[in-house]
Amino acid sequence: MRLVFVGPPGSGKGTQARLLRERRGYTVIGTGAIFRDAVKRRTPLGVQVESYLVNGRLVPDELVNELVAELFRRDDRPVRFVLDGYPRTLGQAEALYNLLHRSGQMLQHVFQFVLPDEEVIRRLDGRRTQEQRRDDAAETVRKRLALYHESTDALVEFYRRKGLLRELDAAQDVEKVYKQIESNLDTQAK
Ligand code: AMP
Repeated sequence: MRLVFVGPPGSGKGTQARLLRERRGYTVIGTGAIFRDAVKRRTPLGVQVESYLVNGRLVPDELVNELVAELFRRDDRPVRFVLDGYPRTLGQAEALYNLLHRSGQMLQHVFQFVLPDEEVIRRLDGRRTQEQRRDDAAETVRKRLALYHESTDALVEFYRRKGLLRELDAAQDVEKVYKQIESNLDTQAK
């Protein structure tokens, strides 16, 4: 299965992606996690993207698209995967479409994690203290949220038109959200 998770920061995408890895052996491709790791290790990519992450801004499409394309060029390219936090813009969605199309693949489900803004802010406040993520500071969270709405509306429409969009009530507890995902996976062959 080839899946995409779309949702505001703190909506549980990372948690659900981890469960799919642990329980169903999915490969998780989290662009945010890849960027954070690169920043921490001070790789050339990390140096390039650091200011975007710290300021809660989106890394330019070309950079993110190239990062993902590179993963799919490898011999050990992902086969059953969940993309967590990519694509985030219409440009990225189109790039991904072309990338998968070239290798005769299509996405099967795009899960949209729906969560009210107040709940996002409440959750991220907790994460900032627990995980010490700099980009979870209140001001940055508001910026990331505004950006999220601005860039994802078109993206969600794109996938809705393709018949791939599945909306999830992300305010429910972890296992209930997982069940919503699973019920979609089980309606198609894996
Ligand atoms: P995340 O962990 O998905 O919330 O991502 C953390 C940060 O990484 C974001 O605030 C962006 O600065 C950057 N980032 C991650 N994924 C993308 C993407 N698909 N497009 C642009 N920027 C991204």
